[in-house]
Amino acid sequence: MIPYARHEISPSDVSAVVSLLKESSLTQGSMVPLFENKISSRVGSKHAVAVSSATAALHLACIALDLKKGDYLWTSPNSFVASANCALYCGANVDFVDINPRTYNICVNALEEKLVIANKLGNLPKIIVPVHFAGQSCDVERIFELSRYFGFKVLEDASHAIGGLRGDYPIGSCKYSDAAVFSFHPAKIITTGEGGMVTTNCDVTAERIRMLRSHGITRNPHLFENSVAGDWYYEQLDLGFNYRLTDLQATLGNSQADSLDLILKRRQDIVNRYNIALSSLPIELPYLDGRNLSANHLYVITVKAESKVNRRQLFDHLRGLGIFVNVHYIPIPAQPFYRRLGFEVKDFPEALNYYENAISLPLFPSLLESEQAFVIDSIAKAFQ
Ligand SMILES: *Cc1c(COP(=O)(O)O)cnc(C)c1O
Repeated sequence: MIPYARHEISPSDVSAVVSLLKESSLTQGSMVPLFENKISSRVGSKHAVAVSSATAALHLACIALDLKKGDYLWTSPNSFVASANCALYCGANVDFVDINPRTYNICVNALEEKLVIANKLGNLPKIIVPVHFAGQSCDVERIFELSRYFGFKVLEDASHAIGGLRGDYPIGSCKYSDAAVFSFHPAKIITTGEGGMVTTNCDVTAERIRMLRSHGITRNPHLFENSVAGDWYYEQLDLGFNYRLTDLQATLGNSQADSLDLILKRRQDIVNRYNIALSSLPIELPYLDGRNLSANHLYVITVKAESKVNRRQLFDHLRGLGIFVNVHYIPIPAQPFYRRLGFEVKDFPEALNYYENAISLPLFPSLLESEQAFVIDSIAKAFQ
């Protein structure tokens, strides 16, 4: 069986985790700050705050960016449900903006039109969550411009995108946003088992998220409301959660981050081979905006409408051969939970059309050339 994604654990990952188990704290030790520093220096952000998942990162970032009951958060329908759920955790409302049919990212023209209408109706969103789908940046400069004009915050869902670039800026640098989140789930570019990170250049946002990830508690005497009663003393200043990343996970993350360039290179090589080998088939290959360097989290092909083989047939054909292709994503508004909130997927025709034709091919660093050749050959045969 060839999966669509597979995490890579190197011998140095194993020895790093084993030596931590023998020598150091399992949680709340020094490895989390080390991992945070490594990520913030890699992406060029002032702060990085590690948490237990990207879902937790989105939740805490929404609170820190002041999302409250009655507010609106808008995101892309072509994402994992967590990009939208974070709004509902805060008692806020969610809405979606359809995608660009070439990049599969949020369509900035549609966003602008929707903002103009919302401005007239007086229900502008407080936060927009652009999702850097498959590892390719959204049009962040224009989204940022709109955010300054209409007065909303930008929270990038960069779960797919660590190592990607927008022009000269690493994704997560927050050059054009208020905060960004990464996921370290095993299906993503680098992993900590489960894990996530918020990056931001705002001191207040970073401090708030640090406190919220650990029950809303601080041990920093400068922040205390009362005087220090003794060495045991701490204060809970806010209602937080236990969303901490463990040192065990951070150790794995540190070691994984050291392999990031190698991982990205392997992914790029595989993408280059797919791009060449699949170019003459009746399928759309991923489009890359010239300003982007993708982290290549997913390689999505879409079956053309005029093709004699439809998506379901191609998908079943490949699964039948042991090639565990997948589909990213079922549009969030099509999920039963969201339909019960009143959403209808037909209101997002580009996301729906994309979804009906998309297949994610196997893409991970240890994919063998022979396995990839089998995938390519199997797709070609389906169209013969
Ligand atoms: C994986 C993913 C998430 C959630 O990440 P977790 O770390 O599993 O919580 C959120 N958004 C997108 C776009 C994702 O792909």
